[in-house]
Amino acid sequence: MRLRLVALIVLAAMVVGVVVTAAFGSDDSEPVGVTIEWVPNVTGSSTATTTTGTISHTPEPQPTVDITGLVFPIEDGCLPDDDNLMPGASREYRSGTHEGVDVYDSDNCAFVGLDTEVLAMRAGTVVRADWGYEGLTAATLAEFEALIEESGGTPEVEDAFRGRQVWIEHPDGTVTRYAHLDGIAEDVDVGSEVAQGEHIGYVGDSGTPESVTEPGTQMHLHFEIRIGKSYLGAGLDADASRALYQAAFSP
Ligand SMILES: [Zn+2]
Repeated sequence: MRLRLVALIVLAAMVVGVVVTAAFGSDDSEPVGVTIEWVPNVTGSSTATTTTGTISHTPEPQPTVDITGLVFPIEDGCLPDDDNLMPGASREYRSGTHEGVDVYDSDNCAFVGLDTEVLAMRAGTVVRADWGYEGLTAATLAEFEALIEESGGTPEVEDAFRGRQVWIEHPDGTVTRYAHLDGIAEDVDVGSEVAQGEHIGYVGDSGTPESVTEPGTQMHLHFEIRIGKSYLGAGLDADASRALYQAAFSP
């Protein structure tokens, strides 16, 4: 009986290891054997820890964070119903996995369109504000698509496909990213302190291939909650990821 239990625990640890490898396979950190503390316990559920010596690309250990009380980045907006718009959905352009939430007018509680105001989810310090952003062109798009064809893309290409961005670092070290912006709010620049709910930018379609091929058809906000080199919901299935985001946007 006890042997069977031990076998089960070993098997569970292996499964977690595989999931972690899959989730972070494209990360660029040094190949080392490492203990990964996997703590997606924003909802107060279980904490699993696994040790593996065979992961070739390992993420920074995900710090324990308790993320609640965020303001939704679009006034009166809500999480989309479509799992394909949530973290964990497969994406050709972002190491194969969507690392954020897409807020489209077609799947939201609020109107989302060109120049809809984007709000800071938490108070913090602006660490990136792409004031000098130049949009994709047919030439750069062709170049990036060739790179993706060849090698699956690079971090630079992934970044280019997020378009004009604002990133905010929060006191617990997490960073929120706001992508595809059409513009940035006046007075928001690197080093600015922003309050929770403060207007930081405008919805657009910058960085989407359609901004070149069919402008105006992909107006949406893509936002991410970064934890170390990882992101909220990494490695989780759609339901578990959704539960984390629901908790994050709860008081
Ligand atoms: Zn997205």
